[in-house]
Order: sequence, then structure tokens, then C-alpha cells
Amino acid sequence: MSLPLVVGNWKMNTLVWQARELARGIRQHIELHHFDRSVRIVLCPPFVNLTAVAEELAGSSIDVGAQNCWTEPYGAFTGEISAAMLRAIGCRYVLIGHSERRTLFHENDAMIAEKLLRAWEAELVPILCIGETLQQRQLNQTWNVVENQLRGILSCQERSKKWVCAYEPVWAIGTGIAAEAEQIKEVHEFIRLLLNGRGCSHVPILYGGSITPENASVIFSVQNVSGGLVGGASLRVESFVAIIEAAAHAYRTRS
Ligand code: PEP
Repeated sequence: MSLPLVVGNWKMNTLVWQARELARGIRQHIELHHFDRSVRIVLCPPFVNLTAVAEELAGSSIDVGAQNCWTEPYGAFTGEISAAMLRAIGCRYVLIGHSERRTLFHENDAMIAEKLLRAWEAELVPILCIGETLQQRQLNQTWNVVENQLRGILSCQERSKKWVCAYEPVWAIGTGIAAEAEQIKEVHEFIRLLLNGRGCSHVPILYGGSITPENASVIFSVQNVSGGLVGGASLRVESFVAIIEAAAHAYRTRS
């Protein structure tokens, strides 16, 4: 069984000195308690803090990821950052299609498919975020939404490369209302079947949406949950490390 993966999405938070402090604090705890032996950890700070965080994590087992990249490899795209630029400063992962990008910045599935290709070309591991809105869930559209969001990647030649799927119900992101274990179980099972049916049994499926130290153990014990994408609770050393500890415990119990 592969190690669980816990990803911290810092969103548009942290000044550079705060990013350094947070990364340093997480590293110290992880190394002190040897969690690095049982959990893979990725920190995703804002673009401008990536280099500082990569410096703080140098020589550790914790990887650095970006929160986004652009659809083209280079050129006249003022204000954008390419996947190759991210790789060149030490990133290993990149979030693609986070719900905040889809809703606030109008990213559609075609753009997301391009970004995935750019990530692979740059040898980054894309973390593709998918999930339904509250209205879609209430209309029983969760299955269609998730399947449609995966359609691009599952019909793409590169799907056998390394990537991660993050199921993040939009209604659970930043709301303090995580999905129930039963809801997570049925959607993860559905995604697992879709992925396995298209040669993607190697792809881990993370859950994201209001994970806290209090609910992490229950979430990580759900079948087919390979780890978590954590927003708010990744901004404090204590809460993030407690979530990592829960992932380590779930891994040890399962294996
Ligand atoms: C996220 O940003 O992907 C996320 C899951 O945020 P939060 O944990 O704050 O809900």
C-alpha cells in the first residue's frame, strides 16, 4: 500500500517571512516525530513564496507544489506563470482546477485539460481537483459532474503518467462543514471505479473540504481515501501536523 498524501493549500495567505516560519515549523515537527516515514507531504504556498519555502524544505522529504499554472508554456501572457517555471524553482506538484479557480476565475474543462498537459511536459505531478456544488448535489447530479470533470483526463493519452485526483465537494471547501464519511465513501468508490476502468489504478484519490484535526481520523479511515487536500487547517503548524498524524495513524492501521 502506498503512503498517504497530505497536501496543504495555503491559498492567498502568508507573507514571505510567515511562509518561511510555517514551512520551518512543519518540517521540525515532521522530522521530530518521523511522520515522513508514513506520510508524503506537499506544501502549496502562493507563487511568490515558493522559492523561500523550497529553501526551508531543502533536504527534507516534504515537497513543494504550486496552486496553479498557465495553459501555455511561455509567451505574451502578462501576469501568468508556466509549469516549466515552477519546475525550475523546485516545485514537484501543481494544483489544477481548484474550485476557486473554476468559479472565481472562470476556468473551464478545456483550460484545465491544457494545464494538465503543460504540467506533465514540465515533469510536475498535477493534482486535479473535482467536485460538485451544493445545488448539484441537491439535484443528485454529483455523479455526472464528477464524471464530466474527469472525462478530459481519462480520454487523454498521458493519463498513465503520475497524477493525483482530489475530490473536493465545493460546498465543503472553507465552510467548516466537511462531507460525511458515507458521502465521501460513495463518491470515492465511484471515482475509483472510473479511474480503474481507464487504466488509472495508480492514481491516489484525496478528499478535500474542511478537514480539521477533529474529523481527520474518520475521513482518512474511509475506504479509497488516499489522503487529504487541506486549506484553512494547513495554515497553523499544530493543526496541519495533527492532520498528518491522523493520516499516519490511518496508514499504520490499514497496512
Ligand atoms: C482547499 O482549499 O482545497 C480546501 C479544502 O480548503 P479547506 O480545507 O479550508 O476547506
